[in-house]
Amino acid sequence: MVDFDQTIDRAVAWWLLKHYDDLGIAEPIGENTINRFVEDMQKSKPEQKRKSNATEEKNTEPSSRKKQVLKATDPVVVSQVAAAECLSLEELRKAMEDYSHCELRNSAKNLVFSDGNPKAHVLLVGEAPGGEEDRVGKPFVGQSGRLLDLMFNEIGLCRDSDRGAEALYIINVLPWRPPGNRNPTASEVAMMSPFTRRHIELVQPKLLVAIGSFSCALLVGKTGITRLRGHWHYWQGIPVMPMFHPAYLLRSPSKKAESWNDLMMIRKKLSEL
Ligand code: URA
Repeated sequence: MVDFDQTIDRAVAWWLLKHYDDLGIAEPIGENTINRFVEDMQKSKPEQKRKSNATEEKNTEPSSRKKQVLKATDPVVVSQVAAAECLSLEELRKAMEDYSHCELRNSAKNLVFSDGNPKAHVLLVGEAPGGEEDRVGKPFVGQSGRLLDLMFNEIGLCRDSDRGAEALYIINVLPWRPPGNRNPTASEVAMMSPFTRRHIELVQPKLLVAIGSFSCALLVGKTGITRLRGHWHYWQGIPVMPMFHPAYLLRSPSKKAESWNDLMMIRKKLSEL
């Protein structure tokens, strides 16, 4: 308790005022007593009510305006709204092309939207385009893409097939190449993820394959591909198999046996769906 008979210096007084203000005590005590019962009765009169509503509106106006500003400028909210409005893959591609908040678009040559058959039962989600993908404008067309194709061909799936049951559709978490193939930042992933999620919702695959750790984080909500692979996870009710990135398999060929096991699990699951 503060002893008001004591003299307090300016710094303490300022701190106290701020402390009271933080607690919501913003009204100084007046000289005259206030009869709160009469005041409450007056407030319940319609005229008073209208006035108090007007005051409330005035009081809430700045914060709601603040929210609108937040809506218009937060890159993640902008991408969430833009993605949610897309009703087709064409609209989604256009919305991604028009999205100006992600710096990666400035250094990339092309937007890498997808490859394969959008009617495919299996949708592969990679991380981000590399140099070759950036040049061509399609995902997984470099060395690691060739290994990916060989692996999935082994279980009867390829991107060129017209038949959904034998086809593949491929997208990335990020549609633009990060300069020098660096890892994407958390904010780049956060602002592009609403488009990736919408992409999956529009394709409605029967099975998802998360290639690499960023895609695993998006679809499984966890990282640590070594522990997560070889088990089924679920994204909006769709089975997800996390798999080693083919670029990693090129560097560590001994891990191919584990990926072979994952491919067998995928083949079995597809026969059950
Ligand atoms: N790695 C990925 O994750 N995606 C590509 O498109 C190419 C390489």
